[in-house]
Amino acid sequence: MATAPRFWRENPSRYNLVGIKCNSCGRHFFPPRAICPVCHRKSVGKIEKIRLKGEGKIFSFTEVQEGLEELSMQKPYVVAMVEMEEGVRVTGQVIDCEACDLRIGTPVRATLRKLSDEGPSGVIHYGYKFVPVKEKAP
Ligand SMILES: [Zn+2]
Repeated sequence: MATAPRFWRENPSRYNLVGIKCNSCGRHFFPPRAICPVCHRKSVGKIEKIRLKGEGKIFSFTEVQEGLEELSMQKPYVVAMVEMEEGVRVTGQVIDCEACDLRIGTPVRATLRKLSDEGPSGVIHYGYKFVPVKEKAP
């Protein structure tokens, strides 16, 4: 498992799931933005960055047969829209699963993974992906 706890700590806005909370209306949004899309000017100075806990449930998902070049080694792969505990929806790849294992409402957790191998720029990209939370059998 390729994780990078050091990057996780040192680059919170890039490597963590950071959204915003509008202290005017109390809503959460992702990705971060400078102005609340609901309150507009009323939200100036009331936007607070928050780190999403990373726990959520599948809202919708789709299995992708053809996609981004950098993911070509992983075809087909699953992309899901996840409703986070905070109420925002985050789109991301779901790993460690087959599409047939997933249902609407399946609990998932965000995890930091390598997104693509070193490209021409010499940069290895990290970011979040979702893994299903294994539910214990009753
Ligand atoms: Zn607002």
